[in-house]
Amino acid sequence: MNIVNDKITEYLDGLYRPLSSGLEKLRRESEKNNIPIILKDTETMLMAFVMSLSPVNILEIGTAVGYSAACFASACPKASVTTIEARDISCEKARENLKDLGFDDRVKVIHGDAEDVLKRMREKAEDHENRPFDFVFIDAAKSHYREYWDHIMELITDNAVIVSDNVLLKGITASEEYLTTRRDRTSMMRMREYLDYITGLADVYTSVLPVGDGLALSVLKGDRKI
Ligand code: SAH
Ligand code: MG
Repeated sequence: MNIVNDKITEYLDGLYRPLSSGLEKLRRESEKNNIPIILKDTETMLMAFVMSLSPVNILEIGTAVGYSAACFASACPKASVTTIEARDISCEKARENLKDLGFDDRVKVIHGDAEDVLKRMREKAEDHENRPFDFVFIDAAKSHYREYWDHIMELITDNAVIVSDNVLLKGITASEEYLTTRRDRTSMMRMREYLDYITGLADVYTSVLPVGDGLALSVLKGDRKI
C-alpha cells in the first residue's frame, strides 16, 4: 500500500525536480530495475533538510546502487559520504554509478553487513575519541534499525540528525489491517518497538512523517549523556 493517497502522490510527483540529469537517469534506471531507492517525496524532503543543515560528514546504512548517496553528495557539495552495503553486486554497481556522476572522491562505499561495519567503526572511534558523523540516514534491513541506532549513537556528533527511512512499512507499522503474512506481524512489532524506543528517549527529539514510506527525523538535543 502507498501510505500517501495516489492522487496527491501523482500531483506532488509532477512538482518533483531532479537534482541533475545524471541523477534523473539513475532514478529512471533504478526504478525500472525495481531497486528500492528513496521515493521522490522522500528525496525532496531529505534534500531540503540537508541543504539547510549542511552536514559535513554523512553516514548512510544501505547503499543499493548509490542513488541516495549521490543525492546527498549533490545537495551537500562540502560533505563526505560514507555508505554501507551488504550485497557485493550492489556495491560494485554503486561505485560505478558514483564514479560516472563524479562523486567517487567524496563518497566511500563500504562492503559488509551494516552491524559488523558499524561495530568496527565504533571500536575505531573509541580509540581516537572521535565521533565524526553529523547526519545519518538509516535505510538497510528494516528489522535491525534498533541495532544500527545503538552503534550510531557512538559515532555521531552531539547535535547530529538521524533519519530513518521506511518506518511505516507501507502501512504495516500503523495498523493490523495492512498485515498479510506472519512475517508482516514481526516487521510491525520490530518497527513499533524501534519507534517507541526512539520517541521515548529524553535527549532526542523525533518527528515521524507520513512522507514516502514513512520517515523518522531524530535530532539530538546536544546535551546527551549516552
Ligand atoms: N538508500 C538507497 C536504497 C537502499 S535499499 C537509496 O535510496 O538509493 C536497502 C539496501 O540495504 C539494499 O541494497 C540491501 O542490500 C541493503 N542491506 C540490507 N540488509 C543489510 C545489512 N544487514 N547490511 C548492509 N546492507 C544491507
Ligand atoms: Mg528506503
